[in-house]
Amino acid sequence: MSAFSRLRLDGVSRRFGGQAALTELDLTIEAGEFIALLGPSGCGKSTALNCLAGLLPLTAGSIWQDERRIDTLPPERRGFGMVFQSYALFPHLTVRANIAFGLRMRRLPKEETRRRTAEALRLVRLEEHVDKLPGQLSGGQQQRVAIARAVVFEPSLVLMDEPLSNLDAKLRLEMRTEIRRLHQSLGLTTVYVTHDQEEALSLADRLVVLREGRVQQVGSPRELHTRPANWHVADFMGYRNLWRGRVTRVDDAVVTAESAGQRLLGEAVGDLRTGAEAVLAVRPEDIRVDGAGETRNALSATVEVVEYQGRELAAEARTDTGLLLHLRTERRIAPGDQVKLAVDPRRLLVYPDGPAHRPE
Ligand code: ATP
Repeated sequence: MSAFSRLRLDGVSRRFGGQAALTELDLTIEAGEFIALLGPSGCGKSTALNCLAGLLPLTAGSIWQDERRIDTLPPERRGFGMVFQSYALFPHLTVRANIAFGLRMRRLPKEETRRRTAEALRLVRLEEHVDKLPGQLSGGQQQRVAIARAVVFEPSLVLMDEPLSNLDAKLRLEMRTEIRRLHQSLGLTTVYVTHDQEEALSLADRLVVLREGRVQQVGSPRELHTRPANWHVADFMGYRNLWRGRVTRVDDAVVTAESAGQRLLGEAVGDLRTGAEAVLAVRPEDIRVDGAGETRNALSATVEVVEYQGRELAAEARTDTGLLLHLRTERRIAPGDQVKLAVDPRRLLVYPDGPAHRPE
């Protein structure tokens, strides 16, 4: 369905006044890929999407659809579908008319408009609601209409900007599956903006993590999950334990580092030498609470806070040297308990710290 085999962003930049919102974004998107742009509020995700859509002119760089330069084209000539956080439906038009609108504008033959609209309605499972107005639909149903409207004219690329953030938690999960299903059945090339790392990990083939307008890492969900490129990305990807420390020993990729009086063994991500300042990163779920008998990375701590989270508990514990640990465990622990903890050295990542290593 895609009208191109490759879309390439080359040094795409956007400034607002003196302020850089997006700096030199290089990215190649293969036809059929689902790409998530991920990062905290203000990192430049929407700016990147709007540059792609043609809603914002670039201040530098170019965008290419195969050999054809497209950043000079107005939005309507790019042929991309868009889905926004606010559904942006026409309130006075029925579901059917909302979906058919784009096809009418393109002056498609009546029969084809009818056929494609019916197909889009079926895809988003709204056949029963064709004659309703948007105001008579739930938030999830309205977003389904918006998605159907974006895919009905078989765009070469679909751009989605936080499409699920106005929905409640349950609907968000349902719609996530729906979007994934739609992507699989239509093979639509999709660029999806979100600040929710879980959403990005579950939907995308590749993730692009942005911070302060610059790409920090591009990778598969697994790469991002297991090997964040720097500690800012680790922080964003759920490595809740980030401890400042100093490297005391280096054996190739295995380093020993000290943080708050604890000596810990981990894997180096980046260039580290003995004596270097470091940030140690580990996920709460990678700290074992049944660590008795473990000799490597064993920690004795006192449980301070426990939060019930269904099957698991989220807890905070502190070693007697003062290192604060965030844990997740199925064990029934309580404040005041003494616990023996352990971290698999392969799950403890050690990053260079200091201004020279912070991404610009
Ligand atoms: P959010 O998730 O909060 O929407 P975002 O990652 O999408 O954030 P952008 O909306 O792309 O971030 O904004 C990136 C930076 O550019 C921010 O510092 C923002 O204040 C600035 N910015 C965005 N749009 C404009 C504008 N029209 N005028 C001036 N500054 C802008």
